Amino acid sequence: MQHHSHMRAMVLEHQRQPLKPVTLPDPQPGPGQLLLKVHACGVCRTDLHLRDAEIPATKLPVVPGHQIVATTEDGRRVGVPWLGWTDGDCKYCASGRENLCVQARFTGRDIDGGYAEWTVADERYCLPLPEGLSDQDAAPLLCGGLIGYRALRFTGDAARLGLYGFGSAAHMICQVAVFQGREVFAFTRPGDERTQAFARSLGASWAGGSDELPPEQLDAAIIFASAGELVPQALKALEPDGVVVCAGIYMSDIPSFPYELLYGERKIRSVANLTRADGNEFLAIAAQIPVKTTVTVYELERAEAALADLRTGRFEGTAVIVP
Ligand SMILES: [Zn+2]
Ligand SMILES: [Zn+2]
Repeated sequence: MQHHSHMRAMVLEHQRQPLKPVTLPDPQPGPGQLLLKVHACGVCRTDLHLRDAEIPATKLPVVPGHQIVATTEDGRRVGVPWLGWTDGDCKYCASGRENLCVQARFTGRDIDGGYAEWTVADERYCLPLPEGLSDQDAAPLLCGGLIGYRALRFTGDAARLGLYGFGSAAHMICQVAVFQGREVFAFTRPGDERTQAFARSLGASWAGGSDELPPEQLDAAIIFASAGELVPQALKALEPDGVVVCAGIYMSDIPSFPYELLYGERKIRSVANLTRADGNEFLAIAAQIPVKTTVTVYELERAEAALADLRTGRFEGTAVIVP
């Protein structure tokens, strides 16, 4: 593997300001870390929330990006997800819930991520990637896919599933849900007929605006969009004992709603981060189905354009940055 002394990267220096192209010294792996050549890095809505200051920054400047497909110095292909490090001995880590680790560090926020030619990552948190998927097609699986899959698990055996917000995560989870024999109802921004057609092409049996009610009541709903008003909207569509799962790291305030919408043992819950077990389980299922990703490729220096296009919903599926 050829080493360079400096690499191209995109950094966030100040929140609410555009990412900047920079040249940085090549990262040096510390103890237990791998030096990784980045081949592709998926753009996640969390990157946009970080840039737009909807979630706090912990380190600035930072190289964003936590859906990294890379190769090691000895030629292994790995994925680097959002969960970059845990302490391994808090009460959450000790009970199989490392996603809630009190000292967790996250890739692309607390640790420099994949909007760069090279990166380093703790080997214990790198996920082996299945063969048969290109680098660009594998990248979206690493956050939207596997955190979406964790959200899907929290819906139990719900037969009629609503997906609110049909972007990166939903376009993969729709395929998993259909493969599992569930009926999918896709909700997009009102009037977004292009995305509704995209959802139907991936197996959704119904697609409409998020201001509409589905033709049948839902057993569960996953909200991938960051609009809090979708919570009472989803509750209105929910059968008794159903669950609304909020899958994002950020959501605007949830408006007040009548208790009647929650009554009937309906539940609301969130999903936070991922465990390595989630990652390995989802990647195996994604390869088995196989999940087909829809990607729009941006060169590294166009990362800010990728975030802008994500904000306005210009592409279907996932944006992927290639260095
Ligand atoms: Zn811990
Ligand atoms: Zn993410």
